[in-house]
Amino acid sequence: MLFEMVRGQVITDGWRSKEVHEALDLCLSCKGCKGDCPVNVDMATYKAEFLHHHFKRRLRPLPAYSMGLIMLHARLAARAPRLVNAVTHAPVLKSLVKLAGGLTTHRELPPFAAEPFDRWFARRTPLNPTGTPVVLWVDTFNTYLHAEVAKAAVLALEDAGCRVMVPGRAVCCGRPLYDYGMLGLAERLLLRDLEVLRPHIRAGVPVVGLEPSCVAAFRDELPALLSYDEDALRLSLQTLTLPEFLLDHLTDYEPPRLHRKAIVHLHCHHRAVLGADQELDLLRRMGMDAQAPDFGCCGLAGSFGFERDKYDVSMKIGERRLLPAVREAPADTLIVGDGFSCKTQIQHATSRRALHVAQLLAMAIEHGPDGPPGDRPERLYPD
Ligand code: SF4
Ligand code: SF4
Repeated sequence: MLFEMVRGQVITDGWRSKEVHEALDLCLSCKGCKGDCPVNVDMATYKAEFLHHHFKRRLRPLPAYSMGLIMLHARLAARAPRLVNAVTHAPVLKSLVKLAGGLTTHRELPPFAAEPFDRWFARRTPLNPTGTPVVLWVDTFNTYLHAEVAKAAVLALEDAGCRVMVPGRAVCCGRPLYDYGMLGLAERLLLRDLEVLRPHIRAGVPVVGLEPSCVAAFRDELPALLSYDEDALRLSLQTLTLPEFLLDHLTDYEPPRLHRKAIVHLHCHHRAVLGADQELDLLRRMGMDAQAPDFGCCGLAGSFGFERDKYDVSMKIGERRLLPAVREAPADTLIVGDGFSCKTQIQHATSRRALHVAQLLAMAIEHGPDGPPGDRPERLYPD
């Protein structure tokens, strides 16, 4: 259809085509096609480009503003997270909030952390002043919502002897903006990120990200959108996942031991763009019996499954493989997932909660090789 749109013979209204919009509407932007396709056809990027043109100078669907601009909403919410959580979880009010944002009423909105990560980090004294320097880049989701994941990453990096630095201003890759084709705003955000990170980029300090789709955005979208900027290209090469940094950049790194079974769900962008080898290698070197079957997409796919008309298809995708496997897992087996949306989907549809690899490292450091006793070990590691 895109080919026909460009040819202009069958589809004659170009970027404004409703038919092309309809055809792309159910694309999850999971990048599975990019990972599988021998010539890297990347429908998610085509979709972003199409939506960019399709809605130029026009109002977009409501979720583009409620979810696509989450980085702005989250910063505002961080001023009074308890109040915002009370409003977004109060009977009646919560439904009104979701309806106003074009979101399904079948899901709870994830609560904001009582204290965002950046505020927590600013009031502590960093360890290892002469250790290996590393920039911990904490994305919007792990700063304002899953702040405990970022705290666990600090513990794991400092335990490995690193000097952890956190950028003084928020750094957001703009991932939700690509999903809604808001590419102009995404480019402005990336230019701002470069300003914040430039001293570290030029000093060659590795930048460790926690959210796979955000790391993938710096690896994939950043050099494509800012191909004219050498620092953008450098940053895309310097940005690593936590396991990549620990295993590939620290000499003689010995991970803490955790002799537990785990089922690992890899975020689609992790599988398609980053590659999962180091993540699984780290878990095995920790002594874990980690299985990572290909569950496919969790179905939430960023904010796709939050949209009012996408909820049913989102649940059907999750119920294909991932959600039944999580329900069948023994209660003392760890469920591992690094992606914010994957974790949100698992929590929504099962009685289990997935932990980020940073939290597994924290668990090993704090509890030793046996981990915490009892079922559902994630109960001790909130989001
Ligand atoms: S849903 Fe995923 S695999 Fe399918 S076209 Fe979209 S990005 Fe590609
Ligand atoms: S080249 Fe890629 S997009 Fe085209 S049919 Fe093959 S796998 Fe699909």
